[in-house]
Amino acid sequence: MEKSGKFRFALVLFLLFGFSRSLAGNGSLPIVTLDGGDLVALSDLNRLGGLDNSFDIITQRGRFYRGARTAVYQVGLSVALLNGSLKKYSRPVLRREGDVLFPVEFAEDLLRGLYPDHTLTRKDSLIVLSAVRTERTGPPIIDKPPAGDMDEKPPARDRICFIIIDAGHGGKDPGAIGRGGLYEKNITLGVARSLEGYLKANLKGVRIVLTRQSDRFIELATRTKMANGHLRENENGVFVSIHVNASISPRISGFETYYLSQSPSNEEARATAALENNVVVLEEKSHRKSYDEIEHMEAFMLTAQIQRESALLAECIQSGMNGAATGFKSRGVKKADFFVLRGSLMPAALAEIGYITNQHEAQQLKKAACQEKIARGIGKGLVTFIKKYDQMIKN
Ligand SMILES: [Zn+2]
Repeated sequence: MEKSGKFRFALVLFLLFGFSRSLAGNGSLPIVTLDGGDLVALSDLNRLGGLDNSFDIITQRGRFYRGARTAVYQVGLSVALLNGSLKKYSRPVLRREGDVLFPVEFAEDLLRGLYPDHTLTRKDSLIVLSAVRTERTGPPIIDKPPAGDMDEKPPARDRICFIIIDAGHGGKDPGAIGRGGLYEKNITLGVARSLEGYLKANLKGVRIVLTRQSDRFIELATRTKMANGHLRENENGVFVSIHVNASISPRISGFETYYLSQSPSNEEARATAALENNVVVLEEKSHRKSYDEIEHMEAFMLTAQIQRESALLAECIQSGMNGAATGFKSRGVKKADFFVLRGSLMPAALAEIGYITNQHEAQQLKKAACQEKIARGIGKGLVTFIKKYDQMIKN
């Protein structure tokens, strides 16, 4: 991807709301009720003083920080990253009349996490914050972020309630092209639809959602954003992106499954990711820059837990495809930096189901029967993953 490094910072407009260094002592925050939900306004948090924060109006993403402690949120999402751990809330962060409104539980977690030296109480429609008196004098305590959650408890593990199936490419982006006008975007949609049918029949009580139902263009970041929009308190999901690989060598064949990592497994894995990431040239310029942006990576960084779960998900999908009897060979599980997986706040994997540049595989991949076999394989892998995941959260 072409980098526009010197514009990297200039393009991002940050509005700084709060500057004061420390919370003076006691304060209170009004709780406002809107559409039946209890919310706290950013403007009121700022009046409290002592919270440094930034808000990027392009990405609609904001950050609070105090020393090394951070909290990141995005307007429209019911989730936030508190010191690198994912927290889910019953309702999303809203933007109203230039202000940002947070679920009251988010505001409480935020204050508890950023100000462990204060106590919080609820009084009528107020959150009351009081400084804890300490005998200590001398230099201020150096902030050390806790290893885990802000509350120093392991984060809650939520049941898988939905699966997002992402058919790669679409619309003006055909993906890889094979001989005789065979388009990756059509194969991925065929497999995605077939997978939807399999999962609806085999996973009761789990919502199955496709990022696209037809031949339309969707930007990479929008795909995970759609998935993240389904996250709620006590509800987790799975994101699976389906693709077909391409190589300059027609001899290369087989299927592989990826999970997100900044360090690719090998040169071939890096090349595959570069090929799939290339679609950003078709995206709107204003959106394109966010892939490049440091703030983006820092903010929505991959948590170690999501990466572990994604590696397991990739293993399950790969062995599911291996049992699909397509005659294609397994190239194994790999990791690489796929933009489409970057923003995912749930376990996510990308399946490269075969090579469109290999004559034998291309012949098979265009057949509905082969697409169904692959979908069944991926589906079985997902069922296995959910079983294993449920076992993990019980223990
Ligand atoms: Zn692709």
